[in-house]
Parts: sequence; C-alpha cells; structure tokens
Amino acid sequence: MDRIVVLGGGESGVGSAILAKVKGFDVFLSDMGKIADKYIEMLEKWEIPYEQGKHTEELILNAKEVIKSPGIPGTAPMVKKIEENGISIISEIEFAGRYDNAKKICITGSNGKTTTTSLIYYLLQQAGLNVGLGGNIGKSYAYQVATEKHDIYVLELSSFQLDNVYDFKADIAIITNITPDHLDRYDYKMENYVKSKFRITRNMSDEDCFIFCSDDEITINHLNQIVVKAKKLPFTQKTVVEQGAFLKEDKMVVRYKESECDMYIRELALGGKHNVYNSMAAAIAAKVMDIDNQTIRTSLATFQPVEHRLEKVLSVGGVLYINDSKATNVDSAWYALECQTQPVVWIVGGKDKGNDYSTLVPLAKEKVKAMVCMGVDNTKFHDSFKDIVPIIKDVKSAEEAVRVASSLASVGDVVLLSPCCASFDLFKSYEDRGRQFKEAVRNL
Ligand code: ADP
Repeated sequence: MDRIVVLGGGESGVGSAILAKVKGFDVFLSDMGKIADKYIEMLEKWEIPYEQGKHTEELILNAKEVIKSPGIPGTAPMVKKIEENGISIISEIEFAGRYDNAKKICITGSNGKTTTTSLIYYLLQQAGLNVGLGGNIGKSYAYQVATEKHDIYVLELSSFQLDNVYDFKADIAIITNITPDHLDRYDYKMENYVKSKFRITRNMSDEDCFIFCSDDEITINHLNQIVVKAKKLPFTQKTVVEQGAFLKEDKMVVRYKESECDMYIRELALGGKHNVYNSMAAAIAAKVMDIDNQTIRTSLATFQPVEHRLEKVLSVGGVLYINDSKATNVDSAWYALECQTQPVVWIVGGKDKGNDYSTLVPLAKEKVKAMVCMGVDNTKFHDSFKDIVPIIKDVKSAEEAVRVASSLASVGDVVLLSPCCASFDLFKSYEDRGRQFKEAVRNL
C-alpha cells in the first residue's frame, strides 16, 4: 500500500487525508501546530493516524507522496527536507483532481475570488445544476470528492493552492485581476506571484475557456509572454470585445459564440466598479455553461453580498458603517473608497505585507475626512497620508476604532473599515476583525 503523508491538519489537509483513506492509501497526517478539535474528531472518525505539535521524520520521509496544505510555506524546514529526499509534494487540488471527473470552474486572482466564486455557484444553483463549492471556501474540495458526487465544481483557488498543482486541469479558469499581494511568500518578486496565479491555466486545451480582465495590465503583460491554449474570453470596462464582456452605455453585455446577454448595471445586486468586473466574469462563465439569459439576469440581481466584503452593517445617528474587513491589500481598499459617494472616516491598519499606499492618495484626498489607524505599527500610514488627510488617530482595538470613528463622523458620512492589511497583529483573522467591528457598531 502506498504511503501518503499530509502536512497540515486544517480544512485542506484533513479533507486530503480522508480522500487518501477512501482511495486505499496508507495515510498519516502531521501538523507542527495544534489541530482544531473539529478536525481531530474527523481524523478519529475516519481512523487516520496523526500527530500534532511536531513533525516526526521517520513517519514522514517514508512517504511516496506528500500533500502540503497551502498555509505551509515552501521554505518550512520539513518541506525542504522532503524535497531533499526526492519525495514529490503536491497540493490538495492536484490530489483531489485525480479522482474527479466533474467539470471544474476555477477562480483565482488577487481580489474578488470569493465574490466571483460565490456568484458563479449561486448562478449554477439557480439554473438547477448539481454543483459543489470548494477550494478556499467552505468544505474542502478533497473532502467533497471523497464523500459527495457533483457534476460541476466551482473552486476558489489561492496562489498557495496553485503552487503545487501539476496535472490538474480546469475546464473554465478565471483570473479576476493581479495586484501585489502575499509578496512575502514569493521572495518579494511580483513575477513569482504572477506565475503562480497563471498555473490555473496549465494543461488547458482549446476546448477550455480562460476568462480574464483585459483592463489589468499585469495579466495582459504576462498573457502576452506565454501560450494559453484555451479560448480567451476577456472582460473589460474600457473597450468593446468580440467575445467576453464589456460595457455599452448603462448596460453590461456578455457575448459567447453567437449568443449575447445584456443587463443594466443598476440592476446588479453588488455595487461598485469592482463588482461589475466580478459580475462580468461570472456571467461569461454562465454563458459558457449554457445558462439561459433570464437565469443569469435574475441571479446577478438577487445575489446577497458575502460577509466582510463591503457589507453594510448599520446606520447609527445618520452615519453608515461598512465592514470591508476582507480588504487585506491596497487594491481592494482602492475599490472600496472608489465606490463611496459620501465623506469617509476610514479605518485602516494591521499587518503590512510590503504595501505601497501611493495609489490610494488621490482617492483619500477626494473622499477621506479622517483616518483611524488600528494596528500595532501605524507608521507607514502616517507617513503616506499625513499631508493628505487632516485627522489621523491611532487605536488598538475594534471597539476603540468604532468609538473614535463615530466621534469624527457627522450625519451623512460613512465609516468604512477597509484596512489594506492582514489582521494578524491584533486579531485572529479578518473574520474576527470584521465581527468585532460589527459588534462594536451594534453597541454604539
Ligand atoms: P478574495 O477572495 O480574492 O480575497 P473577495 O471577494 O473576498 O476576494 O474580496 C476581497 C476584498 O476585495 C473585498 O474588500 C472586496 O470588496 C474587494 N474586491 C472584490 N472584488 C474585487 C475586484 N474585482 N477588484 C478589486 N477588489 C475587489
């Protein structure tokens, strides 16, 4: 019996271990940290041996293949050792793809992955198809392949999940956009990060479709340097395209083969220019899947926003509070500011990932009346915005941020949490940050 070792005991690792067990491998799971109770229960139920708080070499280096969870960097000492021993390292997506004949719609990008993935999933569900949702969202793909049966999967794939795919093939691949993010995991080289995103197009043939934003320079520059065999279906808000999606006056138009679908922008459920892009990408995928125009229009008009993405929390004293805690990089915060029409008290801050705030300066000048910096080290925000925004305050918790922001806001203003940074300096996760923010707003 071939031995498979899984590194990491989170959603992805445990799902992979279960699939390996179902497929008859001798499986072992190892996690350097503590495994959450929920996952320990699953491992025990499936009788999968595991360890936590350590990596025991003798139990790992005898593997035929290692499945590495996306959270573990390639530089981790155990990963290096596995490589030195000539053992191949794959990702959960690569592994699960081997056992899955379903059609796969895969979405990556720096921003908009979850929104676009959820939109497509919703659209296909509304069309009555038997569809699974996985990847970086909800239940792991591997767990679903092990325990469920779907005709189609919609998979959100982060660059970390794509790093170790080799033979996996998407039927429809989407790159929403590429802007600097996670550079700390890519030797601070943008090129490495871009290449990792483009792994989503590996192995595609001219039967498959590649959907991308042709307004995105980084995507286009890279696409011009490589060969992608799939049919190319761009979406754009700047020009008109033969195939793909574009704007025509106040409508969005989608064309695939001979068929066309249009829809008023004002009817889209999700506001903001960025969500027009996301809706375009989703609508192209739906057209490729042969979904009828009426279902596309109704779905894009009735979709409910995903939590922590420009989520309207409450109006208190005439001030609207918006939770955009998932804006963990500069570009997502740019779009959040861009779609604001009222003066903004802007809550920012957290763990910097090598950010450059200069692209935000024009929008901050135009829209932001005060900033509240919620981070352990706010120096970079002060340096970047001190001559632009008249009031900049420092705080150390969500509760304090909301209190200070509310004292700076007047009737008709917006308090926007769109932090540009990861949350790990003061919070467990962006979800924790968003929930603490909402809780503080409700307590005002
Ligand atoms: P991801 O899964 O890629 O992180 P999300 O859909 O969760 O993307 O959105 C993350 C953040 O980026 C949110 O603040 C959201 O408002 C913003 N955003 C969503 N779509 C886009 C887009 N196409 N371009 C830029 N920012 C976006």
